[in-house]
Amino acid sequence: MIVVGLTGGIGSGKTTVLNYFKSLGVPVYIADDEAKALMHRSKVIRRKLIHLFGEEAYKDNALNKAFLASKIFNDKGLLEKMNAIIHPKVASHFKRWLKKQDALYVIKEAAIIFENNLEHQYHYIITVIADEDIRIQRVIKRDQSSEKKIKAIINNQLSDAEKIRKSDFVIVNNDLLVAKDQARKVHEDILKRIKRK
Ligand code: ATP
Repeated sequence: MIVVGLTGGIGSGKTTVLNYFKSLGVPVYIADDEAKALMHRSKVIRRKLIHLFGEEAYKDNALNKAFLASKIFNDKGLLEKMNAIIHPKVASHFKRWLKKQDALYVIKEAAIIFENNLEHQYHYIITVIADEDIRIQRVIKRDQSSEKKIKAIINNQLSDAEKIRKSDFVIVNNDLLVAKDQARKVHEDILKRIKRK
């Protein structure tokens, strides 16, 4: 099975573009969503996160996302420890999911691919980009976040130029219709490449 990675910075529209691929019949997997679901449901993960962050990791029996985000944002060591708890579980969940799919290819959305040198896990990589001011406005609207916070996140992520250089395909999502058109062409191109093999 061909696994295509889909990545992009905050507010670029990864999930929006992913949903378009889904409407074309491509099975899609959102690594962040699965990670969050596992953090809720897995007793082992819960126990390990409480050990790492303290009881505050969960609030009213739900994951305390704001607390965790504030803890890991400026602490790479802690982020790595958290990832070491969660990533292997998501990886095995993805493997099981992949076995059940019946398609020429699947897409896995992951915010972090290049940052952790995980390119080898994918046959092809798509990066979604959008202008920085548009991304900021989208996230302000979606999360009621501040411009300063979003800029700090953007500056913490790999630059679009680097991501583009390392990608097989790029989709520009400033305008949804244009992005959908590009995504359809990428879909056709991937199918062609698979059939040529
Ligand atoms: P993040 O990494 O921040 O979770 P993302 O890259 O997955 O974000 P989306 O969640 O798809 O991005 O999009 C961010 C917000 O911008 C959403 O509210 C979405 O509805 C909106 N959005 C995405 N693309 C467009 C577009 N082309 N036109 C208008 N709004 C858009």
